[in-house]
Amino acid sequence: MARKVLVLGEARDGQLRNVSFEAIAAAKTVAEGGEVVGVLIGESVNSLGNDLYQYGADKVVAVEDAKLSQYTPDGYSQALMAVIEQENPEGIIFGHTSLGKDLAPKIASKLGSGLISDAVAVEEAGGNLVFTRPIYSGKAFEKKIVTDGLVFATIRPNNIAPLEKDAGKSGEVSTVSAEIKDLRTIIKDVVRKATEGVDLSEAKVVVAGGRGVKSEEGFEPLKELADVLGGAVGASRGACDADYCDYSLQIGQTGKVVTPDLYIAAGISGAIQHLAGMSNSKVIVAINKDSEANIFKVADYGIVGDLFEVIPMLTEEFKKLKV
Ligand code: FAD
Repeated sequence: MARKVLVLGEARDGQLRNVSFEAIAAAKTVAEGGEVVGVLIGESVNSLGNDLYQYGADKVVAVEDAKLSQYTPDGYSQALMAVIEQENPEGIIFGHTSLGKDLAPKIASKLGSGLISDAVAVEEAGGNLVFTRPIYSGKAFEKKIVTDGLVFATIRPNNIAPLEKDAGKSGEVSTVSAEIKDLRTIIKDVVRKATEGVDLSEAKVVVAGGRGVKSEEGFEPLKELADVLGGAVGASRGACDADYCDYSLQIGQTGKVVTPDLYIAAGISGAIQHLAGMSNSKVIVAINKDSEANIFKVADYGIVGDLFEVIPMLTEEFKKLKV
């Protein structure tokens, strides 16, 4: 059944996040030959329209308003509801980001619809749309079949490959008018924590350190390796609790969920709560002094050794490969 599917293009610092392009790829499957409509919401976002076209959107609409310069649940839901009223979609896909997790249930309840959250795959099988999502902190996967009604899902970043970019593509961005009013939250200012380099939740490579890193300075070799690999630094809660690094780096059940192509865990024992945030990474390399450490059970490659010897050796070797 051909469907019209809306995809929310999520921007940060004036650029669309990768997960928006991954959402377009998922939307193409859901659309089953129908139309994929990219949606931009913000103060001046029209210029991002071509990016959505280049990754496969068939049409792009935008709601622009100074009151939408920062995300608020009220503002964005009013904007999105105006788009939904105009476009009357049969499917909606968001990224399973902080914004998506907040906004999608709100919209779903307004529409009286169900929601499949945190999907890692979607396919058409036997005439049905089948979504796969992790359950029990990633220890198992369940399949959700959508038989009828609105197909509404959030997709986990880094799991569904975006379509190949067609750099020559461009198109119109049509404006949807929406009255943005009665906002219960007004963001006056956003003060960012000084974070360097690549965004952890979207990084293709993550070098994560645990209590075995032993100090704030102990993270330096990990940062160097992450830099050489173009990746981000993450941490276990053990390392955060010990004050070796900021909680924004925490990966796990009560931290960020990451699914990079390569996850290097250094000095991390592999507690179940940590595995919940990284065990779906494509390739896992564990470095630990203790050959019995639980992390080796999920690792594709295990190195039994002292991280302060192993990490600099890896960094040097990867540097050579880059030359
Ligand atoms: P440890 O378990 O102390 O492991 C340190 C490891 O470093 C050891 O395996 C040791 O052999 C190794 N090591 C030491 N020195 C070296 C060296 N020089 N070279 C190589 N290896 C070395 N944890 C999370 O990570 N994320 C979460 O989101 C999270 N949420 C939680 C939620 C709840 C409700 C609870 C109860 C716990 C949660 N935890 C979480 C904590 C979790 O249970 C573990 O305590 C934590 O993950 C341990 O961190 P760690 O592996 O860094 O430390």
